[in-house]
Amino acid sequence: DSLANQIAAGEVVQRPASVVKELLENSIDAQATQIQLIIKDAGKTLIQVIDDGIGMSETDARMSFERHATSKIKTQEDLFSIMTMGFRGEALASIAAVAQVEMRTRREIDDLGTQIIIEGSELKTQSKINCPKGTSIAVKNLFFNVPARRNFLKSNPVETKHIIDEFQRVALAFPEVAFRMYHNEEEIYNLSKGKLAQRIIGIFGKNYREGLIPCQEETPLLKVKGYIGKPELAKKTRGEQFFFVNNRFIKHAYLHHAVLTCYQDLLPKEHIPFYVIFLEIEPQHIDINVHPTKTEIKFDDEKAIYAILQATVRKALGSVQN
Ligand code: ADP
Ligand code: MG
Repeated sequence: DSLANQIAAGEVVQRPASVVKELLENSIDAQATQIQLIIKDAGKTLIQVIDDGIGMSETDARMSFERHATSKIKTQEDLFSIMTMGFRGEALASIAAVAQVEMRTRREIDDLGTQIIIEGSELKTQSKINCPKGTSIAVKNLFFNVPARRNFLKSNPVETKHIIDEFQRVALAFPEVAFRMYHNEEEIYNLSKGKLAQRIIGIFGKNYREGLIPCQEETPLLKVKGYIGKPELAKKTRGEQFFFVNNRFIKHAYLHHAVLTCYQDLLPKEHIPFYVIFLEIEPQHIDINVHPTKTEIKFDDEKAIYAILQATVRKALGSVQN
């Protein structure tokens, strides 16, 4: 059984960054307004997420580590979005199968919270505890019981980069939530809540303040909003291009191309423009036969979306090119 758990965990938990993503998303789902991410050794020894969200009852806290225990499927519509938005009720069970997990959680209405310690799917402690409202989940020594996987982790800089990528994606998608991130006790980000432009500047630096061009469009098929960067913000390295579909980060080479074409002749060779673009589309226009942990997505009418996006970006760029 614990072996089955470990195997299933492989689907969801590939590296420290996968844990970061799942924990941050859970905090968002729990309506947190402040989220802290604390990591040590690139997440290899510690990944902790602390939120001020709704917390859990003692029963729910225990249940949350059961496979397919989700509190989030309530309607037919939710059931549909499972297929587009990822596995449901798998993350905590999977993480607890391959790490030492310490959870503390308390709801506002409860005087005492709950502490649960689980190691390799095995419950070690369950007790009442004094703790702030919200949830803290500490994931220690990831893959401690799967040496082959632990050995396959990349160097600390590489794993840290993956974590920062996940952190940035969530932080960009939820500018109304305050985030902090610490690595080996050092503060990496301190992002107060605000508008998207402030969030972008908080993440990428003050010199982005003058470089952001808003873009916005609304058609019956698609809503587009966000910011593209002035050509000066373009870099030779990738990593500052963000598409979100229905607030979920995706990679999409074809749509990326639509943006690139708008910068033709504006950029030095091989430079890639900055953009943070949110697309909103009815879920029935998204192809659901795409693996839920992947960041790829298919649209049933890619060409129409390409055209709308390109026109939107072109117009935004044109508005500042005189
Ligand atoms: P899912 O998020 O798909 O429901 P998870 O395994 O990620 O599955 O979490 C299981 C359940 O644990 C969630 O449905 C939720 O009820 C609860 N949970 C997890 N993290 C938190 C959190 N930070 N705050 C409150 N509840 C949480
Ligand atoms: Mg989850």
